[in-house]
Amino acid sequence: MTELMSMTEPEICELCVSLGEPAYRGKQLFGWLQKGIRSFDELNNLPASLRGKLKENCLLCTCKTVKRQISSDGTRKYLFELYDGERIESVFMRYRHGNTVCVSTQAGCRMGCSFCASTIKGLKRSLYASEILLQIFEIRADTGERISNVVLMGMGEPLDNYENVIRFLHLANDEKGLGIGYRHISLSTCGLIDKMDRLSEEGLPVTLSVSLHAPNGDIRKAIMPVANRYGYDELLEACVRYEQKTKRRISFEYALISGVNDRPEHALELAGRLKGTLCHVNLIPLNHTERKGYKRSERDAVQAFAATLEKHGITATVRRSLGNDISAACGQLKAEND
Ligand code: SAH
Repeated sequence: MTELMSMTEPEICELCVSLGEPAYRGKQLFGWLQKGIRSFDELNNLPASLRGKLKENCLLCTCKTVKRQISSDGTRKYLFELYDGERIESVFMRYRHGNTVCVSTQAGCRMGCSFCASTIKGLKRSLYASEILLQIFEIRADTGERISNVVLMGMGEPLDNYENVIRFLHLANDEKGLGIGYRHISLSTCGLIDKMDRLSEEGLPVTLSVSLHAPNGDIRKAIMPVANRYGYDELLEACVRYEQKTKRRISFEYALISGVNDRPEHALELAGRLKGTLCHVNLIPLNHTERKGYKRSERDAVQAFAATLEKHGITATVRRSLGNDISAACGQLKAEND
């Protein structure tokens, strides 16, 4: 079945022609779809015959709000249900630089990071490009506000859903749709090297964030199974290649876990490994999940870690945690069933 809202304008034109309609209909249809419609009936500007054919031959994905929680800091978390009953979460955040939506790219995740809630039940399925877009459409409709930034940092590993994510990036940027500039989009990966190389060839100036979380391969392996697949040095080399190819600075995410990766010697080791790379380290004091055995670093340890990096010439910031009271912060998203 053709999935309608993930199609590009030329693809929709081709579809219309194959259904015996003029190509310009495709252009109209594309524009309406990218406004974020919820059902075929909203396409009431189309001739009824074409609407009928589309209904018969195509799937129109949906994203229904099951639950919405509003944090004391204004952050909103949404639990959405997709056309087949799978559930995902997305988050709306207000920053000084604009409203940001954090989208999920998969229902569940198969990367298995030991500190993250999204991976507990494994991967259910990857999302269509339209299902990533729909999260933004729904949140825009609910808040009535303009969305200027998107981060692919919700549930799932974006580069494990490569084709659909690239398609999403093109559609989100399309001026007939959301029109979000690539520079206002950040994609976060746990470090799938082959896909990072591929991404660097796409010519899309999005910001790449790499979830590093460790100063060396041994610690990384202990907390992130993906580190067994790709070595630590290999990953850093891939980051350098990415920077050289795209001329864009990489941002490293580093969740600080008490006693595991937050000691002074870890900060020193990390500074040594990153020396000379054009990068930025985003420190995230670990957010609480139901996963046992890990504790967030103490405030002093976080400050000391950041100071050590800075002292060695590595820019570091501590990520302000938003939506903690509604479990909307990094690593807390899951497909809860109530
Ligand atoms: N799969 C992608 C996208 C997830 S983005 C990735 O791994 O990058 C979410 C970010 O939050 C990642 O850097 C992830 O490692 C981090 N994270 C996961 N669990 C966390 C937790 N409990 N506390 C803080 N950050 C966490």
